[in-house]
Amino acid sequence: MNSDEFRKYGHEIVEWIARYYENIEQYPVRSRSLPGSVKARLPLAPPAESQPFDTLLKDFNEIIMPGITHWQSPNFFAYFPANSSPPSVLAEMLTAALGTQCMIWETSPAAAELEERMMEWLRDMTGLPDYFEGVIQDTASTATLVALLTAREKVSSFRSNSSGLFTSGILRVYCSSQSHSSVEKGSGIAGIGRENVVRIPVRKDYSLDPDELRKAIDHDLAAGYTPCCVVATIGTTGTTAIDPLRLIGEICSEKGIWLHVDAALGGTALLLPEMRWMADGIEYVDSFVFNPHKWMFTNFDCSAYFVRDAASLIRTFDILPEYLRTRTRGKVNDYRDWGIQLGRRFRALKLWAVIRTYGVDQLRSKIREHLRLAKILSGMIEADKEFRIMAPVHLNTVCFRWQPPGITDDEADRMNEKLNHALNDSGKIYLTHTRADGRYILRMVTAQTAVEERHVTEAWRLIRETASAISSQRGAVDID
Ligand SMILES: *Cc1c(COP(=O)(O)O)cnc(C)c1O
Repeated sequence: MNSDEFRKYGHEIVEWIARYYENIEQYPVRSRSLPGSVKARLPLAPPAESQPFDTLLKDFNEIIMPGITHWQSPNFFAYFPANSSPPSVLAEMLTAALGTQCMIWETSPAAAELEERMMEWLRDMTGLPDYFEGVIQDTASTATLVALLTAREKVSSFRSNSSGLFTSGILRVYCSSQSHSSVEKGSGIAGIGRENVVRIPVRKDYSLDPDELRKAIDHDLAAGYTPCCVVATIGTTGTTAIDPLRLIGEICSEKGIWLHVDAALGGTALLLPEMRWMADGIEYVDSFVFNPHKWMFTNFDCSAYFVRDAASLIRTFDILPEYLRTRTRGKVNDYRDWGIQLGRRFRALKLWAVIRTYGVDQLRSKIREHLRLAKILSGMIEADKEFRIMAPVHLNTVCFRWQPPGITDDEADRMNEKLNHALNDSGKIYLTHTRADGRYILRMVTAQTAVEERHVTEAWRLIRETASAISSQRGAVDID
């Protein structure tokens, strides 16, 4: 592709993106592709000869787009969001153009120093302690693995990387029964063993019960295990429960256990001073992760990982082959020593673009608006006799269940599942479910970059309308 063609298609693609965002509500939110349907339209072998870029764009529109689920649609209420935004998209284009490898300072000083400053900005924007130092990881799963590996090194006096795990005894990791699967996955990868993840029971609001945590740790100590790490969550994936950080921190500090906080979604709400109660007890925390790629309008991937003691992190990950020796080592941050990968993307640029383009004030008002939308939605649900709120609404996520009077719990499970499928099949909105106390519940997240009140009220109208259609069918035919 020569420079003229690049310019031509570059303009075309920017125009395509602008139109896509303008018209995004016209697409079915969840892709209607059937399994194998996309692959069936892709040639078995790559082309031997050069093909015009036009043909690629045509196939992108005809083959790829129907198989896309539209995460940037304001009618996307599923999972947690993976928000993008125009400034983030533009910065990502520059990142791809530069194609820099940000493994050490010398391989692009500006990338390393911008990353350092962006982590300071994020730390201060969210009110985290000023002694925290940060690094951008790809995902929260990786950040949690990094935390577990660092905790493992620390508890084994920095011997497990060099000598293996044999000398450390059986390590234990504690988290609530509602914690993200990345804790278990990371513990497996770290050689701690999935079976050594102790799932602590939760209180009524689905937050970790600190009394149960203390009991579990004491029990393990008496049995000869070595407690390694506690993972607390600010905003669990199922119901956005907030674990009591101060009470957990007091136990960790008393017992000398690493405390990691998984705030993948919830961390963004710390931009709001009125939400900082969630981080009460942060002085006990050793490591903390949140994802600007979820709720802070920075396209995937961009996960902000903060540590109290960067020296322990670096001691866990640095390894210095001859070809990476530089004269600046020790004077600057070589981020390949702050995590698992050697090669790293230049992710700080899109963060810079997002923070500068919105400004902290507009970021705050968008997040406040998302919290307000969740309250509006939960208010409408509470006012309806056929529906129930199933978990406290602290953040942007409303957990609810359709439970008309006189219907058994098991029957309501089936009806909610049917309702969920009918809504998602309609293409008009997309929401997902979870289970709480064994019951099927629906989750609706009001945090998409472009979501407005009208999208939420329309979604609620559609939910009620679809439920009543299912109800009337029930009278006529057996839905099972
Ligand atoms: C989404 C989520 C994760 C995983 O995030 P990735 O960045 O996709 O790895 C971890 N923990 C919680 C609480 C989450 O909600």
